[in-house]
Amino acid sequence: MTVICMSSGHGKYIRGASGYLDEVNCARAVVEETARLLRGAGVETKTYHDDWSHSQDENLNRIVNWHNGQSRTLDVSVHFNAYQTTSAEMGTECLYLTQKDLAKKVADGIAKATALPNRGPKYRDNLFFLNSTACASVLVEVVFVDSSADAAAYEEEFPAVCAALASALSGKKIQADDEPTPEPLPVEPPPVAEIPEAEPGRQTIGMGDEGEDVVYVQTLLGVFPADGNFGPVTDAAVRGYQAAYGEGVTCDGIVGPKTWAAFDYLEHAKASGNDRLPADQARRIADIAKKSKIANYAWKDRGKLPLGYTAGIAQCFGLAATRLMQGHPTATTAAQADRNLSEKDALTWYRDEFEALGMNNSQDGIDTLRHLFVLLLGLGARESSGRYCEGRDMSADNVTAETAEASMYQTSWNIRSCSSAIPPLLQEYWANPNGFLPTFQEGVTLKKDELANYGSGDGAKFQFLSKYSPAFHCFVTGIGLRYLRQHWGPINRQEVELKIDADEMLLQVQHLLSEDSAEMVA
Ligand SMILES: [Zn+2]
Repeated sequence: MTVICMSSGHGKYIRGASGYLDEVNCARAVVEETARLLRGAGVETKTYHDDWSHSQDENLNRIVNWHNGQSRTLDVSVHFNAYQTTSAEMGTECLYLTQKDLAKKVADGIAKATALPNRGPKYRDNLFFLNSTACASVLVEVVFVDSSADAAAYEEEFPAVCAALASALSGKKIQADDEPTPEPLPVEPPPVAEIPEAEPGRQTIGMGDEGEDVVYVQTLLGVFPADGNFGPVTDAAVRGYQAAYGEGVTCDGIVGPKTWAAFDYLEHAKASGNDRLPADQARRIADIAKKSKIANYAWKDRGKLPLGYTAGIAQCFGLAATRLMQGHPTATTAAQADRNLSEKDALTWYRDEFEALGMNNSQDGIDTLRHLFVLLLGLGARESSGRYCEGRDMSADNVTAETAEASMYQTSWNIRSCSSAIPPLLQEYWANPNGFLPTFQEGVTLKKDELANYGSGDGAKFQFLSKYSPAFHCFVTGIGLRYLRQHWGPINRQEVELKIDADEMLLQVQHLLSEDSAEMVA
């Protein structure tokens, strides 16, 4: 069943473009009127407008978090375009990452309603909204606010514009009716509470403290057991998050007012999103992995790995395969055929071994993606014995944000330059840091300094998310292996074990996914 989530671009305090029209006011009006028409046609539609954010980042995150917190089948962001003040007709475009056909229908429909130029569907892989919403999405640029011709046509044809958008989004034929509401309806109270400033009365805590507040901090940061004793593991976790959050928070391990506010951000981001797979499906995938032969395998020089590692990688593969079906660039990049570049692509570098095991990577698609995960499973055994929480290599002096290794693959943030598919993952997971952490924790014990991070800025965020959202680290590494395999010593030395049992386990996960999606269609 179709459920549409629509939001207006920008916000009450973060204004968009203005000219003959005001982008924020118009986008809100279009969202509400389109939603009214959709509901009238029996299509469940939810709407959101940001009345709180005071910075661009906060605004983008808040909107995306709202979308990711809803159950729905389509995300729509409504914007108005701007270029330069003109009397010429400029027209409509619709931006997409995976939904080209839908974007075309939207642009066609609105352009027809206004009789303005149809600029058509446009592929964009660098927009936060499209990259970060975890379901099918489009971003509409209705008309240009700085074209007087566009403004006049829009105002004249407002009901028809909204009817055209409603029709394109739902696939139903929806007509404008007699009671359009050109003014935005009063905005409903939002389901997500405003991020509060640090609540008064919360105590400053640090090393040696005990109690409820410590339990809260430990639980939020993934420190376990959350025993209420603020010891060295908790201290490193607090410092690690302080470094990642930045924004003037001092990296001192002391939880004072600013750090409490930074924790509010994390709690909010975590609570408003999810792991991006249906919880029940993720659980069934973990069950397959835990019962598999490979979960019990004693890896060379490493022995048996934490049960949560095999299960977590299986879930990451489930998500990657789902994204491949959706055409998400992070998955299509990872799933491309052997690139025939042995200096860059780990699949070329390991081609003989893959072929000896009957794993063929000559085609784009799910088989190649699955074989990449066979390699990932073995690489994590080698790099960290399957421990998601592993910190930087203490025997090397990689202490900058760029070079400090983190997590199960010991990847560092300088990997990002190898593929444009990597940086958007950082934004996506910072906005919604749920990445199968509880699964990866099973069978692991945290050590003293592991959760500390080095440097600041995006590199510190990268280290934090690598250990807080292991799926993020897995996807970054999966793409990196296709473009810069020399980043990993065990790959270069061909020490990674490729196991046919790993492929069999992942194939079962793949079958589960296709059965589930067949049921959804039926
Ligand atoms: Zn805009």
